[in-house]
Amino acid sequence: MCGIVGYAGYRQAAPILIEGLSKLEYRGYDSAGICVHTQDAFHVAKSKGRLQILSDKTDGGNAVQGVVGIGHTRWATHGAPSDINSHPHLSESGKIAIVHNGIIENESRLREELEAKGITFRSETDTEVVATMIGIQYDQSGDLVDAVRQTIARLEGSYALGILCVDDPDRIVAVKKNSPLIFGFGEGENYIASDVPAILKHTQTVAYLNDGEMVVFDSQNVSFFDADGNPIEKAKETITWSISAAERGGYDHFMLKEIFEQPKALRDTIGPRLKDGKVYLDGIDLSEEYLKSLNKITFVACGSAYYAAGVAKYIIEKYCRITTEIMMASEFRYCDPVLDEKSLVIAISQSGETADTLEAVREAKRRGARTLGIINVVGSAIAKAADQTIYTCAGPEIAVATTKGFTTQLAVVYLLTMHMAKTLGKVDDTTYAAWVTALEKLPDQAAELLTEARVEEVKNYAKRLTKHNNAFYIGRNLDGATCLEGSLKLKEVAYIHSECYPAGELKHGPLSLIEEGYMVVALATIRELFDKTIANVREVRARGADVLCVTLEELADEAAKQAQSVIAVPSTDPMIQPSLNIIPLQLLGYYIAVNRGCDVDKPRNLAKSVTVE
Ligand code: GLU
Repeated sequence: MCGIVGYAGYRQAAPILIEGLSKLEYRGYDSAGICVHTQDAFHVAKSKGRLQILSDKTDGGNAVQGVVGIGHTRWATHGAPSDINSHPHLSESGKIAIVHNGIIENESRLREELEAKGITFRSETDTEVVATMIGIQYDQSGDLVDAVRQTIARLEGSYALGILCVDDPDRIVAVKKNSPLIFGFGEGENYIASDVPAILKHTQTVAYLNDGEMVVFDSQNVSFFDADGNPIEKAKETITWSISAAERGGYDHFMLKEIFEQPKALRDTIGPRLKDGKVYLDGIDLSEEYLKSLNKITFVACGSAYYAAGVAKYIIEKYCRITTEIMMASEFRYCDPVLDEKSLVIAISQSGETADTLEAVREAKRRGARTLGIINVVGSAIAKAADQTIYTCAGPEIAVATTKGFTTQLAVVYLLTMHMAKTLGKVDDTTYAAWVTALEKLPDQAAELLTEARVEEVKNYAKRLTKHNNAFYIGRNLDGATCLEGSLKLKEVAYIHSECYPAGELKHGPLSLIEEGYMVVALATIRELFDKTIANVREVRARGADVLCVTLEELADEAAKQAQSVIAVPSTDPMIQPSLNIIPLQLLGYYIAVNRGCDVDKPRNLAKSVTVE
């Protein structure tokens, strides 16, 4: 959500800022802008819409002279996307320019206070209020760093701020709270950014800022400070993934590339954690005594991660016999959750920056629960906030709609379940060995589902189903949990109204909607429940629905007697089956979106890491 880039060096800043922002486009945005120091003045260029508009306006940045600057892609929270509301914003005197990611929650109070003093605002943003406050402090003291400190002391909410002062043409000040910000170390040049891809072309050495920390830097020097203003040393971290990991590499879209990366991502997530037929979760302390003391496990997550938690609930309850509940992180804090030291709260988030999930982790800790994160991005806020973290090792995920992020979350959920079932003595050796074998085979089976013929088959069905404007995804038990994610993919990227229901629930209401023109995707991969789900297929078919059934290879002929089309997936252990079932559903959503001409990697209104609550 939103992107910030800052550069202080010896090269022309604007092209570097615009190129950096282009690497953050995946985060979601509606307008873009830059501010560069140009001969004792600011050169500000900003516009609503795609970054390309800003790039065209400035000849890719070449038309803007200067070697120090800040850039921003905005995801509007205060005021509509417009040229005026775009960042950077200037203070009243015009001496301070800032870019901001996040939300200032006490903005209206601060705005009223300033208006009462006679200040008029140009934009509707909370950001301009912050710029104005820094400007007033600066006019009084002439000290930029102090002005920033005085101002942030009064802010409630979340922010990553990049700040320039017209009187100080070499320096950038940046500070963060509850929004991501990294510092990049270069040779005679330095950077800030919301995320690694923005600066990876220039440096692989970074420092992750913690909440409350500030960095003050120019092309040669950098100083870090803690929340109290004390100088601190920051550890330099080396980014191990290459630029190509964050490039499209010949694929039409990141989403497609990431779907195809799933076998590797699964291998990276599972491989190091299986040794000699056993699961090893290095550094994770879930002893028998502790697990036995637990009253319940509560998963907190949002979006697809919440659906991965849905799969976890079924399998942890079935195989570990621990009561497991799942809660949308956005609701968690407001429902007075019953938690204590006998509760384990597991937070799932690809980015590790999801604001709602982060706050849920903090709330869980306040209530005495132990917390565990299932996170992809190393060093992210939730990874730091949780007591323990298991990383998903999916590599950078750029497309807004998650694919490999989700399947690797499932892989960690299986590993965790296996580990807990074994530790608690709830699984016999034969079943455990079957789980291990199935997990070992999973990456190859995922690759099988991505062979040309299989992908072509889904593409063909997508062609037929593209015409429908309404969809239902149905399934029972783990199939139902997987359908939720399949349905979300279609909504997110193809903008098709899609609902998901446990198949048995249909006749309790939603069946009244089914008529010709509806597509129904039925997942029927659980042998014991196959007949029941096929009976539901019959019901919707009788009412005119166009049905695609996803089932096991050995059940495909039977399914074809009822559904217009059938996709057969290889079978694996029932616990692990969701990971294979989701792949054709991802492809289906993707190809329908492509057929409809949607902006697949950057769906309207959505952002990648949702850093606002
Ligand atoms: N709240 C700010 C605005 O609406 C910043 C939003 C963002 O993170 O892009 O302008």
